[in-house]
Amino acid sequence: MQEQALTIADKTISLTRVHTLVIGSGAAGLNAAVQLRVNGVEDVLIISEGLDKGTSINTGSDKQTYYKLSLCGRDADAPEMLAETYFAGGSMHGDLALVEASLSARAFIHLVNLGVPFPRDAYGQFVGYKTDHDPRQRATSIGPYTSREMCRALIRRVRELNIPVREGRNVVQLLTLDQDLSGFGKPGRSRRVIGALALDAAENPEAYLAENVIFAVGGPGGLYKTSVYPEVHTGAIGLALLAGAKAQSLPESQYGLASIKFRWNVSGTYMQVIPRFISTAADGASDAREFMPAYFNSIGEMNSMVFLKGYQWPFDSRKVIGGSSIVDILVYIETVLKGRRVFLDFRENPAGFSFEALSDEARTYLTRSEALLETPIARLQKMNPGAIQLYLDHGIDLTQEPLEIAVCAQHNNGGLAGNLWWESVNIKHLFPIGEVNGSHGVYRPGGSALNAGQVGGFRAAEYIANRYRGWTVDEPTALPVVKQAVGDLLASLTQTTATVDWQAERLELQTRMSRAGAHIRSLAELRRAVPEAWAQYRRVAQGMDPANLTESLRNRHLCFAHAVYLEALLFALESGVGSRGSAIVVDPAGVPIHEKLGDTWRIIPEDETFREQVLETVAASDGAVTSAWVPRRPLPHPDSWFETAWARFREGEIYAD
Ligand SMILES: Cc1cc2nc3c(=O)[nH]c(=O)nc-3n(C[C@H](O)[C@H](O)[C@H](O)COP(=O)(O)OP(=O)(O)OC[C@H]3O[C@@H](n4cnc5c(N)ncnc54)[C@H](O)[C@@H]3O)c2cc1C
Repeated sequence: MQEQALTIADKTISLTRVHTLVIGSGAAGLNAAVQLRVNGVEDVLIISEGLDKGTSINTGSDKQTYYKLSLCGRDADAPEMLAETYFAGGSMHGDLALVEASLSARAFIHLVNLGVPFPRDAYGQFVGYKTDHDPRQRATSIGPYTSREMCRALIRRVRELNIPVREGRNVVQLLTLDQDLSGFGKPGRSRRVIGALALDAAENPEAYLAENVIFAVGGPGGLYKTSVYPEVHTGAIGLALLAGAKAQSLPESQYGLASIKFRWNVSGTYMQVIPRFISTAADGASDAREFMPAYFNSIGEMNSMVFLKGYQWPFDSRKVIGGSSIVDILVYIETVLKGRRVFLDFRENPAGFSFEALSDEARTYLTRSEALLETPIARLQKMNPGAIQLYLDHGIDLTQEPLEIAVCAQHNNGGLAGNLWWESVNIKHLFPIGEVNGSHGVYRPGGSALNAGQVGGFRAAEYIANRYRGWTVDEPTALPVVKQAVGDLLASLTQTTATVDWQAERLELQTRMSRAGAHIRSLAELRRAVPEAWAQYRRVAQGMDPANLTESLRNRHLCFAHAVYLEALLFALESGVGSRGSAIVVDPAGVPIHEKLGDTWRIIPEDETFREQVLETVAASDGAVTSAWVPRRPLPHPDSWFETAWARFREGEIYAD
């Protein structure tokens, strides 16, 4: 790593040259840095908002899941079998599915060896359970805070390896160069990344020049108003979209019921104890009433649906008609359409509650859990006392007060498009890994995100060590690009002619996304939202809030990202993809979803032929967004004869373009 001072417009700023720059210190970025060192790449620097920032270290759930290859008993499993499960979710490329499956055991054991206490039996077998979209018992967990413990173990390792970490950095731009490929014996030009610009904690600009950038900035948490991503986490996919990086499957996200005062999924036991759902007027107190009974034929049916939400947590378009996802829709109607507030009250049963009226599944579960107790809170105390303590630790006493909830954004299956080494498909030397990499399609087993994040770090590091170990940044061309970008940034920072209130702007884009780009979608709403989004972007791109330069610049990439997401969603709906994954498409010409909901609640069914395709989206430098469906790559069945595979490995052929 080398430091140099750059003087531009009478300002001196630091320029750091580093071989591989890792942006982001979540579970994915930390592991990538460790793997770079393991592969002999010494000159590595992590820059991030902070080791305590991001989703991984700040989130969890009832039983936060890590999905992996089965490693227990007689559960027959193999990479191709796991890959088939990933692939079955639809709109996922087969080669990516096989890579995520093949590296699963390696990534998992690495975490175990770093001290993450994944449960095992007396013989060392890693016992598993079945998670959603899982045909086996491949899931594991260490409790509510799996990803936090992964981060802590990885941070210890980063420190042992003396990998430098710069915290308090906010990356505001990726730097790219369009290069002529004739020097590489190829026709045409290609874009590559050469570094990034950031602000430090005192809002001083910094420049980074790098051979490779591992982009591990997490999911797009900052795009939504109703969100269960931690409040500290906004994500930064917009920086790569602004640089022209291709994205895929942007519309595929996951939404579900979560508490909003303290952001946490109300899955598992929170639902299995069958709390009372109430809604109030906007003041959160007056006109409290149970709003759900009106929509069900019996109280027993309603309570059985609530029970099912325990392990059918994500909103699922297939479970809307006659299934448990109707609960999410009813909460949405109260909160978004009626402007009321919804709470779970664990202190009292829903009116008319009786165990006898529950479905066999719910009653048997509660009976076997010895939880046929008087109130939801008593049942929760019996089945999962930690669930009560968790809220108590965050200032909410479920024994004394109801818990406010909403349908929240939780995870983006889509993101930037990478190849099978997790390198961006159209910007060389840029490696999007973790949630910002959109390797997954419509459905994926719960816990796949954490596996995919680890796998991305292994892949990027191995490829960099074998193909990008040298220094190929063409400095005479690159330095003027850096200087120009720094000059533009300095000019932006003093751009006070048009001022904008950064909080109002943030709220506007988040409100638009939660309204038009979340789990309830419609052509009419998206056609309205897209031009509004671009109008906001033009305003945000021209003004700064002098009160907070960092947040103003963050608004620029968030605002750009939300406009690109909305464009991708509109394109998908216009193509006729219909309701799939964790989103429904509402349309007067669709099929009614519920006899007691009005005619506005008709949805377009899924056109499953789109599961064989992947939606790609890219923004040009003038902001024009292009989306296209491409056929998905099939699951590979490579020749696994040892001698020939070994030769290909020895010769480095596995790293071919
Ligand atoms: C409530 C909830 C429950 C979940 N449960 C599960 C589960 O059970 N199983 C599962 O597999 N997944 C789950 N997920 C998803 C999973 O936790 C995330 O996908 C994963 O932790 C993301 O890891 P990451 O390293 O990609 O990003 P993050 O952990 O979000 O890290 C991103 C990093 O980038 C940094 N960063 C971002 N922007 C910038 C910038 N501009 N400049 C500098 N630094 C920046 C951040 O500060 C942070 O260090 C859950 C998510 C949520 C919200």
